[in-house]
Amino acid sequence: MTYPYDLNELAQLIKQWGQSLGFQQVGICDTDLSHEEPRLQAWLDKQYHGEMAWMARHGMLRTRPHELLPGTLRVISVRMNYLPAKAAFANTLKNPHLGYVSRYALGRDYHKLLRQRLKKLGDMIQAYCGKLQFRPFVDSAPIMERPLAAKAGLGWVGKHSLILNRSAGSWFFLGELLIDLPLPLDNPVKEACGKCVACMTICPTGAIVEPYTVDARRCISYLTIELEGVIPEALRPLIGNRIYGCDDCQLICPWNRFSQLTDEVDFSPRAALHAPELLDLFGWDEDKFLRITEGSSIRRIGHLRWLRNIAVALGNAPYEDHIVLALRSRLGENNVLDEHIQWAIAQQLSRREQSALDILPAQKKRLIRAIEKGLPRDG
Ligand code: SF4
Ligand code: SF4
Repeated sequence: MTYPYDLNELAQLIKQWGQSLGFQQVGICDTDLSHEEPRLQAWLDKQYHGEMAWMARHGMLRTRPHELLPGTLRVISVRMNYLPAKAAFANTLKNPHLGYVSRYALGRDYHKLLRQRLKKLGDMIQAYCGKLQFRPFVDSAPIMERPLAAKAGLGWVGKHSLILNRSAGSWFFLGELLIDLPLPLDNPVKEACGKCVACMTICPTGAIVEPYTVDARRCISYLTIELEGVIPEALRPLIGNRIYGCDDCQLICPWNRFSQLTDEVDFSPRAALHAPELLDLFGWDEDKFLRITEGSSIRRIGHLRWLRNIAVALGNAPYEDHIVLALRSRLGENNVLDEHIQWAIAQQLSRREQSALDILPAQKKRLIRAIEKGLPRDG
């Protein structure tokens, strides 16, 4: 088929238009992900997708974008930085009284923004070509966005299974525009994790079971966001104060020395979510939860799952009377929540007992010193 314009020139224009729309990088690949199918099947066979039944249901459709939109010849893969200037990672993660929200979720939900920009990009291409079939996707359809991004040259799939870019690390969102034009292809970049296994070592729950393979059932992002019911008890202490997602494998990655900050106002952190006190969050009623999370991706987990996650984090906090009181005050609202609250109270009380036992040796030492010095006993 011949076209009344130069496809190479058009590919260059698409990249310029993409950047003018706020994407930091735009790459183009074909739709062939057949090399991914054995890995995907093995991952599903091991049940690593947990309760995300839609993943098994969609099966290999995820590796066949041309079946999602018949006629598709190319995928335009884009990335957009999301890391805010004041990410306050350490301050929040290291303070057990605060709740940690994955940094991508601090601002407005990215899905709508990226999809609108991709739609605009599609409109611009269509205006240039006259006739075009296109469809934007942002984490919304059975599509393997990371292998596509790697194929389009946006980076390589790191051992934590996220896309890594030499000059931008991994703090970015991905999106795809499926189109029916045979544009020239970009080249994949060379994998550069080398011998590093930092993400595998740091992962609090051991979810990166082998390089490039995450068992979602152990991943804190899955446990706090996707999982609807009961969080396995053995994993609760490992979750720490992470109440929505987890960033540890990205935080430790040496390539994130090169990460870039976002300049999208929509991704600015909301004050109430940036470094929030767990006890304050646990006091929100559903109306407040819905009000504060309006337009945020957090809203989709609902108030009960939110409280469940906070209860686990409170269970992991140092003992305090008013934490136990706050936990008790919410008993009886929901069975699943109750189970986590009971667990958290038990954790708190056993920590109180432990700290009482820890005091005993100190008292004993003081007593011995006092006897030795012939001083009056003070307890
Ligand atoms: S997000 Fe957290 S729990 Fe999940 S793989 Fe990364 S470090 Fe592990
Ligand atoms: S931490 Fe190391 S192994 Fe993991 S993704 Fe980054 S470079 Fe690769």
